[in-house]
Amino acid sequence: MAQIQIQNLSKVYKGGVKAVDNVNVEVKDKEFMVLVGPSGCGKSTTLRMVAGLEDISEGKIMINDRLVNDVPAKDRDIAMVFQNYALYPHMTVFENMAFGLKLKKYPKQEIERRVHEATEILGINRLIGRRPRQLSGGERQRVALGRAIVRKPKVFLFDEPLSNLDAKMRVQMRTEIHKLRLRLQTTFIYVTHDQTEALTLGDRVMVMKDGKVQQCADPMTIYDKPANKFVAGFIGSPPINLMEGRIIKKERKYYFDEGKFKVRIVDEMRKVVAPYAGKEVTFGIRAEDIYDKLFVSEASPDNTIRAVCEVVEPLGSEVYLYLNTGKNSFIARVGAHNRPDVNRDMDLVFDMSKVHFFDRDTEKTII
Ligand code: ADP
Repeated sequence: MAQIQIQNLSKVYKGGVKAVDNVNVEVKDKEFMVLVGPSGCGKSTTLRMVAGLEDISEGKIMINDRLVNDVPAKDRDIAMVFQNYALYPHMTVFENMAFGLKLKKYPKQEIERRVHEATEILGINRLIGRRPRQLSGGERQRVALGRAIVRKPKVFLFDEPLSNLDAKMRVQMRTEIHKLRLRLQTTFIYVTHDQTEALTLGDRVMVMKDGKVQQCADPMTIYDKPANKFVAGFIGSPPINLMEGRIIKKERKYYFDEGKFKVRIVDEMRKVVAPYAGKEVTFGIRAEDIYDKLFVSEASPDNTIRAVCEVVEPLGSEVYLYLNTGKNSFIARVGAHNRPDVNRDMDLVFDMSKVHFFDRDTEKTII
């Protein structure tokens, strides 16, 4: 079992780059924690400090209540899997997987047992005699995973392990990593820039930007209740539609006025938007919360807007509509059979119970 506490963790590289800025998180025993964010936000640096591959500038890292700041990487009982596999080219799959155990002077039989068990889990028995150059990218990544598994570490650290794979293989390996974690029942910290990987794999997802934690929560909370405009925009594909505008109050009702359209804010949101009456805000609505009026029964002037449909993009199971209000472009994700005319006005219905508002100055979520 292993639980990891990260307290007030910061990293300043030589030259003054503050790569990690006061990160606090507790990764629970057997939890799968994903660190996600754009390139350069400090994910790898955080992970490398947990691994012991990078000095800590400030703060503490504890593994099972033991302070490990000054414990060398090899003594932390951690296995790390990298993007570039880091396999030894002159060794076979078996030798690559056995290498760490040999160094630690494990008995031959035990090494064979563990390697066999790992190749069984990963479905790579038949590759055992091959060298890395005789393997596909996906197979190499399995070997890299195998090398981590045989050590039976307390904690697995993954740094963008799927980034070098093609799109199809990435999806396949994602499922395998999911199965692996169910089987291994250990603690994982997984770094990725891919929000889909983060949402599908994580028990919890920690979103980072500029070295700081923006939000740390379970995937559905991150998606449905983003803490700020950055998280809302980073998580979700296609990205959430964001539009600038103003909240107005008329006859005790509140509206969002974009300039080209006006929609009524539902009564449940009255209390939180009231202080913003008359003020500029950012409005957010996800593509799946917008409907072609022809296909909904709850349309009313309060939730319906007019926009030009510029592009219709059929994706098989659904259709993306690229729309324009005359002021803002936005995307709607509608049913597979929707085929509105291109370059014509159309009426769209917003599910106003699902929309978000963000403070223009702080970018924090209002609702
Ligand atoms: P991520 O993993 O999110 O892409 P990193 O943790 O690799 O981000 O990097 C965070 C920041 O620290 C970036 O601005 C990066 O340029 C900087 N950085 C990373 N490694 C070093 C280093 N060895 N020396 C100086 N700056 C670094």
